[in-house]
Amino acid sequence: MIGRLARRQGSRRLSLLALVVLAGGASLWWAPAFEAAAQNGGSLARHRMTRITDTIYRADAPGTPGINSTSWVFVNETDVLVTDSEGSPASARSLLEGIKTITNKPVKYLVDTHFHLDHAYGNAALPADVQIIGHDFTRKALLGREAREGTTIKWFTTPMPDRIAGLKKQAAAEADPAKKTTLEAQAAAAEATLAVYSGDFPLQAPNVTVARTMSVWSGTKEFRIFWPGRAHTAGDLVVYVPSERAAATGDIVFKATVGWQGDAFPNEQAETLETLRPLNLDLLLPGHGEHVQGTAAIAQAISSMQAYVRDEFTQVAAAKKAGLSPDAALKQLSLSKHAPVYGQSVTPTLPAVQRIYDIIDGKAELN
Ligand SMILES: [Zn+2]
Repeated sequence: MIGRLARRQGSRRLSLLALVVLAGGASLWWAPAFEAAAQNGGSLARHRMTRITDTIYRADAPGTPGINSTSWVFVNETDVLVTDSEGSPASARSLLEGIKTITNKPVKYLVDTHFHLDHAYGNAALPADVQIIGHDFTRKALLGREAREGTTIKWFTTPMPDRIAGLKKQAAAEADPAKKTTLEAQAAAAEATLAVYSGDFPLQAPNVTVARTMSVWSGTKEFRIFWPGRAHTAGDLVVYVPSERAAATGDIVFKATVGWQGDAFPNEQAETLETLRPLNLDLLLPGHGEHVQGTAAIAQAISSMQAYVRDEFTQVAAAKKAGLSPDAALKQLSLSKHAPVYGQSVTPTLPAVQRIYDIIDGKAELN
């Protein structure tokens, strides 16, 4: 049902949907910005910290400009390791402020799970003594044209001026003062986010790079940081903590959303995800949203994502073979059986379909 409805939606609706998917939550990406502005009065932003275990916290942006992900904070004996600097320098500063509310130990390591704007574009605001760890591909993407002009940033920023103009028009026509204020705040938040990704904005690439695997030891605690294979991008990293049976997995698998697929390898993702099974995890910490707890739930999350990407790739490949355009292929996909797990995100974006065409044509090899 959801799939059928989604297929009737125009491209404008799909781009809005994609923004929500990248943000990974049920709420629209500008809504928290409105709340934060109301609460802080513009003063120093601070991430919301949620305790998961004695040493692991989830950190969520309070509405700082930019499209933000979820960070995971590991508090060690003498230092802190955190995943993802999120969508802007302001978000990274807010993340560091949030961490200060749970520990006075210094952030020594930050791991970029991948190069996307909502995960790594806060790197530039990190103090110089923080080791920024990322895959070779992530470094290359952040230093190259991909980070400023690639499929992903274009898809999310190109529709924004029209959206902002639309919100302003709606605000001007709105008679209800409360609704008007909300629309104005949404327009302001969207403008602030667009500004983050405009002009010659600052980017910082990882200064410690990983090709396959490395270990960071904080006292006796090991962080095994490894490349599981290509999945959400060519350079995803998993941060595995054996002593906690926990792993931060970036955007390769989620509890309840498929995620953005504009740089993905859905043809390889299922096999890549198999690398997580032998870890026998008790805590899976995705790059957006809530953690998944327990071996059974984690096994299910992995299986659900594998089933989705296999189904998606098979159907798109068949459509391509039949001579359909990516647009026509998108319209005839039937992925609604995955909706009980992934909701509306079962309907791919056009770039996700185009990506599969490129993979089949051998045009997706950036590294
Ligand atoms: Zn991503």
